[in-house]
Amino acid sequence: MAGLHHVTAIAGGARGNLDFYTGVLGLRLVKRTVNFDDPGTWHLYFGDAAGAPGTLFTTFPWANARPGRLGVGEVQETAFLIPEAAFGFWTHRLLAAGVAIEDPTVLFGARRLAFRDPDGMRLALVATLDAPTAAPWTTDAIGADVAIRGLQGVTLLVADAGPTVAVLSEVLGFEVSGTDGSVTRLAAPGAAAGAVVDVRAVGGFPRGALGKGSVHHVAFRAADDAEQTALVERLRDRFGIETTEQKDRAYFRSVYFREPGGVIFEIATDTPGFAVDEAPDALGTALRLPARYEAQRDRISAALPSLDG
Ligand code: ZN
Repeated sequence: MAGLHHVTAIAGGARGNLDFYTGVLGLRLVKRTVNFDDPGTWHLYFGDAAGAPGTLFTTFPWANARPGRLGVGEVQETAFLIPEAAFGFWTHRLLAAGVAIEDPTVLFGARRLAFRDPDGMRLALVATLDAPTAAPWTTDAIGADVAIRGLQGVTLLVADAGPTVAVLSEVLGFEVSGTDGSVTRLAAPGAAAGAVVDVRAVGGFPRGALGKGSVHHVAFRAADDAEQTALVERLRDRFGIETTEQKDRAYFRSVYFREPGGVIFEIATDTPGFAVDEAPDALGTALRLPARYEAQRDRISAALPSLDG
C-alpha cells in the first residue's frame, strides 16, 4: 500500500493549534494523546471521520518552541485535498478567519491556495475534480460538499532531487508522474489521499532548523508488519540506509530513517488504527494513554496544557 500515512508537525500552544485545525479547517480530532517519547506534552491527531491513513495531520504542540527556519532537508508545504467546487468557499472562509492567504496558483493543472497556520506552518488546499469521498468530517459550517478530503501530499525541499526520488520510487512505491520547473512530482498509484510527493530541488540553499511551524517528519504507509519489514530490507539492500527499530505507536507501528535529502521519513503500518482504544464515534474525545503510562494518568493529565475553554 503506497502513499502517505500522516504528516507530523511542531506547533506552538496546544489550544490554538486545536482550534485552527478543527475550527477553521474542520478536521476531526481523532486522537488526543501524549508524545510517547515525551509524555509531558500533547500529541494531537487530526483527520477524516474515520482517522484513515492518508488523511492524518498530527502535531506536537510545544508552548515554548522557537519558530523553525525553512531550509533544505525539510517539508516546504503540506497540502490538503478539497473538491474543485469548494475553492471559493475556502477562499472566503480563510479570509473571514483572518488567515493570510497567498494568490492562488496552478501546479500540475490543479488550483492551489497557499496559507499559513497560526504558527507559520506552510499549508495549501488543492482543488481536485475527483476528491475522495470516503468519510469527510463535517461541522456546522463545513458540509460534506466542501470538507477537506485528506492529504494531497507534501513538497520536500532538497539540494538534489535524484537520491530522494530514487528512495520514493524504488522503495516506497511512488512513480514519477511529471516535472514542473524544479519540482519532480511522484504519485502513489491507487492511493485516494496522500498520493503525492513533490520534490523541489534548490541546490545550495541553507539547511532548515526545526521549530514551531516546521514539519517534523513524513510517514508513509505499510499495510502491516510484513510489508514494513520488506520495505526496510529493500531500503538497506538498495541504499544502505538503516531504519530505527520498530516502535509501537499504539495506533500503528513505525520505523524511522533520514532520506538522502535530509527529511525524516517514517514507515507506519495501517493496523491497528485509531479505533483500537476508543469507539469510532468517540474518537478524540478523551485523553488516551499507552498502557505503560496509565499508572501515571493523573499526574500526566494534570501537567498537560488545557485544550478547553
Ligand atoms: Zn509519525
